[in-house]
Amino acid sequence: MLIYDIIVIGGGSAGLMASVAASEDGAQVLLVDKGNKLGRKLGISGGGRCNVTNAKEIDDLIKYIPGNGRFLYSALANFSNRDIMTFFENMGIQLKEEDNGRMFPVSDKAKTVVDALINKVRSQGVQIRTNSTVDEVLYDQGQAVGVRLRSGEVFHSRAVIIAVGGKSVPQTGSEGDGYAWAEQAGHTITDLYPTEVPMTSPEPFIQSKELQGLSLRNIGLTVWNPKGKKLIYHDGDMIFTHFGISGPTALRCSQYVVKALKKFPVTSIMVTLDLFPDKSVDDVYNETLALAETDSKKAIKNVLKGYLPERMIPLILSKSGLEDDITFYNIPRQLWLEMAKLLKAFPIAMHGTLSIKEAFVTGGGVNLKEVDPKTMESKLMNGLYFCGEVLDIHGYTGGYNITAAFTTGYNAGKSAALQASQV
Ligand SMILES: Cc1cc2nc3c(=O)[nH]c(=O)nc-3n(C[C@H](O)[C@H](O)[C@H](O)COP(=O)(O)OP(=O)(O)OC[C@H]3O[C@@H](n4cnc5c(N)ncnc54)[C@H](O)[C@@H]3O)c2cc1C
Repeated sequence: MLIYDIIVIGGGSAGLMASVAASEDGAQVLLVDKGNKLGRKLGISGGGRCNVTNAKEIDDLIKYIPGNGRFLYSALANFSNRDIMTFFENMGIQLKEEDNGRMFPVSDKAKTVVDALINKVRSQGVQIRTNSTVDEVLYDQGQAVGVRLRSGEVFHSRAVIIAVGGKSVPQTGSEGDGYAWAEQAGHTITDLYPTEVPMTSPEPFIQSKELQGLSLRNIGLTVWNPKGKKLIYHDGDMIFTHFGISGPTALRCSQYVVKALKKFPVTSIMVTLDLFPDKSVDDVYNETLALAETDSKKAIKNVLKGYLPERMIPLILSKSGLEDDITFYNIPRQLWLEMAKLLKAFPIAMHGTLSIKEAFVTGGGVNLKEVDPKTMESKLMNGLYFCGEVLDIHGYTGGYNITAAFTTGYNAGKSAALQASQV
């Protein structure tokens, strides 16, 4: 009977890297994926350009992984974001740094990265089975011993690495299959929820779709808990959609809305939009008033045109209680101050997000207390390893999740190979 050293389930970011690391020192590896190609999610990440990692210093990098990033200290000490860059550059893939440390291939094509990983895996003798769905992980007397495919075929191994991702964007193959196998090994799965996901709002101005498609650059968003405590602030860009808000800043804030809705007995969570994060209320008040004074005969709705996104003006004025055709000399100063405050903290009630399937990343997963942070091995089942999004780790988009997948994949692969060599 053929016994592989290692079976890797899932050929996404984590599984491909685990296969590379495991086979590097000669381990016999079988990589099984349900899809007809490997690296499908990696291929659409970073807008199809593949945001391979992020160049930030490790402490900073970990701050951008709010979902248990600290678990990654040991893994990153062994295979860091710098090592990821070197790894790709050694394969002839030139990388470039963009805003906020985001690293991309110079080709701007995710395919370059995915193909390089697949070629590497192949060149190191990994056996690849695509179109092969794993139905069951086989355990025997406290040891992972192989897998059973949906076709009924059984493969045996000394170690099994589960790298099947989370539940987001299931058309890429990640349908949450790994959680049941982890539970069968005695693991707990923490609550699963959508992160990096567009938010939905019942606000009349959202439901009316009057702002749909409006993009805002360099704004600030703050999420508040029902007691008025600030939960998080992010700045960057966002877009109004027909159901709520989306875009990088909204995505980053989304997990805090999800968690607050779970924690408090409320139906909506308040988010405030700061249209001028670099200015104070006084700055905004004085600047807008000065504008009105310069053109003292012009209706304020027209005065504000160069200052505010035009499509927001009627909404801002009506919320401030201002008539839109008054001119400088008729402006009620108290209401003008209200308007300035509104421009700095425009409230938008959020009652949820799109589903976990539509999220970029899955929050929750295999409980990290039950996984060794150095080796990624299960503390409950010998020879069982986890890596990537199936773990309870999630970061912001910007290369952080892919870094987490690569580093946990690398460490799982190396540790499993070492263990298999000692049997
Ligand atoms: C549109 C989009 C853009 C993104 N952009 C970014 C970004 O810019 N920066 C960032 O850091 N992150 C980004 N992410 C997230 C990032 O891509 C993922 O977190 C990461 O790729 C997860 O890797 P993984 O290997 O754990 O899982 P996946 O890449 O999901 O791979 C899991 C693999 O397992 C296979 N599989 C599943 N079940 C089985 C089974 N039963 N049998 C056999 N095979 C199975 C699947 O077919 C799949 O190939 C993005 C995600 C999406 C959807």
